[in-house]
Amino acid sequence: MRLDRYLANLQYGTRSDVKKMIKANRVAINGQKVRNGSVSVVPGATVTVDGKTVGGSLQVYYLMNKPSGVLTANSDAAQKTVLDLIAPADRRPGLYPVGRLDKDTTGLLLLTNDGALGHDLLSPKRHVPKTYLVSLAAALTPAMADQLAEGITFQEFTSAPATVAVRPGSEGRLIELTIHEGKFHQVKRMLKAVGNQVTDLQRIQMGPLHLPASLPSGQYRKLTEAELAALL
Ligand code: URA
Repeated sequence: MRLDRYLANLQYGTRSDVKKMIKANRVAINGQKVRNGSVSVVPGATVTVDGKTVGGSLQVYYLMNKPSGVLTANSDAAQKTVLDLIAPADRRPGLYPVGRLDKDTTGLLLLTNDGALGHDLLSPKRHVPKTYLVSLAAALTPAMADQLAEGITFQEFTSAPATVAVRPGSEGRLIELTIHEGKFHQVKRMLKAVGNQVTDLQRIQMGPLHLPASLPSGQYRKLTEAELAALL
């Protein structure tokens, strides 16, 4: 993410305020003074303003077990959002959910104020795999599995080959599906395209992060150091 956007997201001022700060030689990345706001801040970089680290200890990374019925949004006039589930003491300027789960989808959601990391994880170039536990209206047939594994063409994109595993004992009605994009309603649209229907959807993995079995629905916890290191 660009340095000027990074600082603006951390509430250091508007884009034009932070551009002035950068021009005034007040900002450094990894100890090197930077004079241009278009320079990239990569995840894990240390950014300082007037010699003080920004982000760093200010940066938080929460892994949430999103419940059903809650919007993945920063705020909403009428409905509860995932940010409303964060205790006031844990809120930070610029905290936001990385990617979107539908209102009725449950499971793993990362929230951070590290804009560079969030940006990077969502980048189509990174193809971060996401695994969903999908309950189906009808048993998955071998033909449906083949289509998912081959990739499905929609108007705006073709899905990369997905990995499909049927949960033993589910008679084909519960599958683990790993996809590599994050398009709107993607899993539901993929299953509809092969002639099936999603009745319940839970994200259980995103890149190296797994939904912990011990994390109750609606709760969140900080990423462990190992989880953070695996992400960066
Ligand atoms: N695919 C969907 O259809 N919905 C989600 O919430 C996530 C992936």
